[in-house]
Amino acid sequence: MLLATIDDTALLVPYFSWKYSHRRHHSNTGSMERDEVFVPKPRSQVPWFSKYFNNPPGRVLTLAVTLLFGWPLYLAFNVSGRHYDRFACHFDPHGPIYSDRERAQIYLSDVGILAVSYGLFRLAAAKGIVYLICVYGVPLLIVNGDYGVLNKVFHNITDTHVAHHLFSTMPHYHAMEATKAIKPLLGDYYHFDGTAFYKAMWREATECLFVEPDEDAKDKGVFWYKNKL
Ligand SMILES: [Zn+2]
Repeated sequence: MLLATIDDTALLVPYFSWKYSHRRHHSNTGSMERDEVFVPKPRSQVPWFSKYFNNPPGRVLTLAVTLLFGWPLYLAFNVSGRHYDRFACHFDPHGPIYSDRERAQIYLSDVGILAVSYGLFRLAAAKGIVYLICVYGVPLLIVNGDYGVLNKVFHNITDTHVAHHLFSTMPHYHAMEATKAIKPLLGDYYHFDGTAFYKAMWREATECLFVEPDEDAKDKGVFWYKNKL
């Protein structure tokens, strides 16, 4: 855990803050009321400006902003996060995301982030801001947007995500092996989509703007992603 704490903090991720919100994401995945992040929006909650981005240049811009800044925007401003009655932020120990018994550890996470920020500030002071952007800023944005070659280093967390959601307490050193093992157990429930990631991203940006039940839906509570603003 110490290693996880240090490496998350070095990537400017508040360790305990994210640990708690992420645990809730796992307990409520796909819930429109209680999931913490990537919360599906009903048509009525699509922001008014979305229609201006519902075209190819708008999608390129949205994807670029999501990939480059989506993660820090979520941590700092709860962008794409669940609705809270007041401003929610991963760095705020007294924010609505956390319960009273979690708050002390959120302070600790913040101390870690401040320490790393101070280190980065000293590095910029010694070597210049351009140096800091080149050796830290750009690689960090790339890691946040797309693990790429680092996917292997992170134990294939992107392409074994189903296994991660089925057994979220399982360490991921053998996630590929575990995925192969659960495949026959899932039987017909196992689905595989081999679409190249860049095509899948474009498909999602084009087709998945909000969720709605089918008009003649027999299954109450089943929502589908749609795009007809
Ligand atoms: Zn997870």
